[in-house]
Amino acid sequence: MVDLAAQYERIRGEVDEAIASVLRSTAFIKGEDCALFESEFAAWCGVRAACGVANGTDALTLCLRAYGVGPGDEVVTVANTFIATGEAILLNGARPVFVDVDPVTYTMDAAQVEAALTPRTKLIVPVHLYGHPADMTPILDVAARHGLPVLEDAAQAHGAEIGGKRAGTLGHAACFSFYPGKNLGAYGDAGAVVSNDGDFAARLRQIANHGGGTNKYDNVVLGTNSRLDTLQAAILRVKLRHLDTWNTERRERVAAYDRALAGVPGLTLPRERAGARSAWHLYTVRATDRGALQAALKDQGIPTAVHYPRPIHL
Ligand SMILES: *Cc1c(COP(=O)(O)O)cnc(C)c1O
Repeated sequence: MVDLAAQYERIRGEVDEAIASVLRSTAFIKGEDCALFESEFAAWCGVRAACGVANGTDALTLCLRAYGVGPGDEVVTVANTFIATGEAILLNGARPVFVDVDPVTYTMDAAQVEAALTPRTKLIVPVHLYGHPADMTPILDVAARHGLPVLEDAAQAHGAEIGGKRAGTLGHAACFSFYPGKNLGAYGDAGAVVSNDGDFAARLRQIANHGGGTNKYDNVVLGTNSRLDTLQAAILRVKLRHLDTWNTERRERVAAYDRALAGVPGLTLPRERAGARSAWHLYTVRATDRGALQAALKDQGIPTAVHYPRPIHL
């Protein structure tokens, strides 16, 4: 599904030097690459602040905590996503409320959001599935009318855009994963939260590092240990410099698939909504006979995967 060895070969010199430099510095926790990656990633997204965390699941879970989501609250999201979106809600003691997805982009159907809101709704979490941005404009409209924040699950959408604005700048805050197979992947677990709201980013940063205040042993709110470690930050800094090129190369592959697969019976190809650009994390097709298609491709040595075999409400 993804050839990380081939990717490493292209950047081996830069990556090896970045790793060696961290090893020489021994600043394994909160080394200078951490703050540098945060500012570079924030700038790349076009957003004011970024806070590195241990992984994408923590990014979501800790954001919900930073919003004050807790028992008795409801969070509106979708069932067609990776399990972490739901876990973040349940881990905070809240209840996920699922709205269906649009059949073309497979992302949250904005027209169904309003009916899912109750006085207990605290937050709306659209997912930019497969790298395609959710229909943010109408979702933000509904949210604004009800005074609710919108948190983007951008774990698959590094570089996705709506009207030239990147994922991460569309909602109040956004969560990214740098799981190795994502468009921007670490060599281990890593994640980040970005937001234009500096206070929110600061609250998140505090929670992700033991509720810390100004001095090391100030613990002013209940926090945890979910820091982005320096080695991963150093690797991510190298890869971030290549991400635009890699995303462009993804678009070229998508165009090739589109040409080659046009008109194949029983196959629905992915499409972009007008005004939206997918980060093309995955090229996901619908097939009338999925099992037969997978078996035939496997015979040709072509791996496929089902994203996702079971929607998370099941
Ligand atoms: C990958 C992913 C996550 C979780 O990220 P991790 O870094 O693996 O914890 C959350 N949401 C979605 C949609 C994802 O694809």
